[in-house]
Amino acid sequence: MHEIVVNLHMHTRYSDGTGTHKDIAQAAIKAGLDAVIVTDHNVLVQGVEGYYRLDRSASNSPRTSRVLLLVGQEVHDQDRDPQKNHLLVLNTNRDLSTLADDPQTLINGVAEAGGLSFIAHPRDPEAPAFNETDISWEAWEVQGYTGIELWNGLSELKTVLHTKLHGAFYAFFPQFIGYSPIRETLQRWDDFLAEGRRVVAIGGSDAHALDMHMGRLHRVIFPYLFHFRTVNTHVFIPEPLTGDVPTDKKMIYDALAAGHCFVAYDLPAPTCGFTFKGKGLEQSAIMGDEISSKRGVTLQAHLHQPADIRLIKDGRLVGAWRDSQACAYTATEPGAYRVEVWRSYLGRKRGWIFSNPIYVR
Ligand SMILES: [Zn+2]
Ligand SMILES: [Zn+2]
Repeated sequence: MHEIVVNLHMHTRYSDGTGTHKDIAQAAIKAGLDAVIVTDHNVLVQGVEGYYRLDRSASNSPRTSRVLLLVGQEVHDQDRDPQKNHLLVLNTNRDLSTLADDPQTLINGVAEAGGLSFIAHPRDPEAPAFNETDISWEAWEVQGYTGIELWNGLSELKTVLHTKLHGAFYAFFPQFIGYSPIRETLQRWDDFLAEGRRVVAIGGSDAHALDMHMGRLHRVIFPYLFHFRTVNTHVFIPEPLTGDVPTDKKMIYDALAAGHCFVAYDLPAPTCGFTFKGKGLEQSAIMGDEISSKRGVTLQAHLHQPADIRLIKDGRLVGAWRDSQACAYTATEPGAYRVEVWRSYLGRKRGWIFSNPIYVR
């Protein structure tokens, strides 16, 4: 398996972002990403997918010289007040925003079109100081979606925007924002897993490169480049990226559909090299896979540098290893086992890695 770093959920001028697809590609290459998935609101932008190369004028030499840019969309009912229930729709060839007025119809439509659907910013609090309303997901009765956006960069920002002064502080020191997925979202995911459901977790930046005006001060806050160095989704694909767009696109979407990925906060230190595997009597599994519990399954996690590892089964902590680079646990009971890794950064212990579960059945 090959690990690639993907940033997904972001907006351009086609909706409420300020940059272009080319701006995003350039920032992504500078951040060392392998792929980005652009998701403008209620529009499927055609003709921009493909590999982008670094501008010759760029001065530094980043880790990669190209990035794969893919396009999905973020769909919600614009006639609804407040405008809740945002769904990330990936890997469809047609615009599905016409189905926006009913979340279940939309999810069914995505599945029929062979696409993937992720509940965007499941809990997204209001930020009254900035006239931002609560746009959480409310239609929790829906079925048949691929997964949820466990960690959304913008929702997390809204949790700390208590006053305009907080906004100004975080605009200049955004590295202090990242802490962990919102607790309620994490709890809801664990509840689903404990019910035996398969729900894939992804991390989204919700990057807009917003323009901020305060008096005569004008600044692009949270530029794409910053977002691309923070909450990413690390995806495991069977072969290295080939450079052929249809082949690579299929590998990425197949892996996301299977949950072969983890959510990472890459700002404190790169998370590349993290693994979480299960070994049974006859089978082995990576995150997202199912494996038989017969005669026990050895679950192992590895990191490239020490941090605090927590193993969680159906929402319950079953093992903790402080300041460790590896851990092992024998699972004899069926359940969804997932790993969280926490580490210190800027004076605070912060969430660093949230794996998808290994489903021991
Ligand atoms: Zn949204
Ligand atoms: Zn968005």
